[in-house]
Amino acid sequence: MAIKLHDTLSRKDKRLNPRSGKKIEIFVCGPTVYDYSHIGHARTYIAFDAFVKYLKSQSYEVRYVQNITDLDDKIIARAGELGQSAETLAQNFEKEYYHDMETLGVDSVDKYARATDYIPQIISQVQRLIDKGYAYEIEKDGIYFDISKFKNYGKLSGRTSEQAEDAVSRIDESVKKRNKGDFAIWKISKPGEPKWKSPWGEGRPGWHIEDTAITETEFGAQYDIHGGARDLLFPHHESEIALMEALSRKSPLVNYWTHTGFLTVHGEKMSKSLGNFITIHEFLKMHAKETLRLFVLSSHYRSPIDYSEQAVSQADTNVKRLAEFYNKVGKLAQETPSARGIKNEGTNSKFRSFWQELARDFNTPKALAVVFQLIRNGNSRISENKLTPKEAGQILNFLDEVNKLFGIIPDTETTSVPEDIAALASEREKLRKEEKWKEADKIRAAIEKMGYIIEDTSRGPEIKK
Ligand code: AMP
Repeated sequence: MAIKLHDTLSRKDKRLNPRSGKKIEIFVCGPTVYDYSHIGHARTYIAFDAFVKYLKSQSYEVRYVQNITDLDDKIIARAGELGQSAETLAQNFEKEYYHDMETLGVDSVDKYARATDYIPQIISQVQRLIDKGYAYEIEKDGIYFDISKFKNYGKLSGRTSEQAEDAVSRIDESVKKRNKGDFAIWKISKPGEPKWKSPWGEGRPGWHIEDTAITETEFGAQYDIHGGARDLLFPHHESEIALMEALSRKSPLVNYWTHTGFLTVHGEKMSKSLGNFITIHEFLKMHAKETLRLFVLSSHYRSPIDYSEQAVSQADTNVKRLAEFYNKVGKLAQETPSARGIKNEGTNSKFRSFWQELARDFNTPKALAVVFQLIRNGNSRISENKLTPKEAGQILNFLDEVNKLFGIIPDTETTSVPEDIAALASEREKLRKEEKWKEADKIRAAIEKMGYIIEDTSRGPEIKK
């Protein structure tokens, strides 16, 4: 099934066409680790997590890299307020971030790349930009990128270099800049700030170049998809294009720019600076992780989502409906254990419309509508005693596939696996390691007869009732 993806740069839905066969390289801007992450961050990271899992379900080999901004002005300012070193502060909140992502089931990122682990690569990029005439030095201040030298500056955001001064966030100020929109790629450190040796004096990287140094190292000069929330479009992503395309003289930096809409509160972006945020940790004290995931995926990734207690409680109710239906169908399917073995053949199954919606610029709300329609029909057929165990098995398989991408069905029936089943499963695992597939399959069939199924996941085999 052809997949279409909206590209912010061309402002078009484009057919997904990876640079190299079925391989997709994707980079998403990670957090600046100076505080706890809030559910606005979760909005963006859950959306990309589900998207990457979807691509994998379509047999793409995805390599997903996210940066960790563990050094920048915000971190230094916060550390100063708390009387801590910037390094300690960043390390603590980086750990908190991983913990939050783990509890949310965001586990598709292949590599978290810490900016401070790429200082030599950043210095090399700064030097090459100076050599090519794109960057200049302001003494005792730093090295700046000259946006007037890059003629396409503004192509992503639709802003011209003259308008660059309108940028709202993280602007590098210096009266000696050639153009108002020029941005620092290397900053001479002030006393007490973290610093690294460089040909221009002891300093630290500017923000935008952290990401291009990481992506050049991890992927090369060009790759497939770059993502983040809308606020990063300008100046951050605009500047990444300028830096990397100036360095490599290759265009485009990426084939698809994907931007998530904001999580808002009364129409205003949820953010640390506005103080209108709910941390992921606080949210999870009151709701299941599945609620947050369903809440996020019930809107299209590019649309804003306005947070309200009512909307979250609707997501809570829907998660319960999903779980109840899953369990009901599960019980029915158990009557014919072999039904669980029936493959839905993904996109060719009768659940095709779910996959079709995802293929249309990852339209999760419409795909979820297919799932909830299935629940309505399924429930009425169950109450009329018309749903056969075979159909129940198919539905169950489908819901498992949905859950692998979306993570919205809670595991309410925690089954303790009897000893004899566990022993058979480990015997099967041993045979699989010896590549004795036939014998292993026989054991699997025996286990199924006893009312359990084995799923081979990336974490190893999982046994379910
Ligand atoms: P930051 O830690 O501010 O650098 O943000 C990390 C990531 O979360 C970036 O991709 C942001 O654009 C995104 N983000 C921050 N706030 C929100 C929000 N309210 N809604 C959606 N995404 C957000």
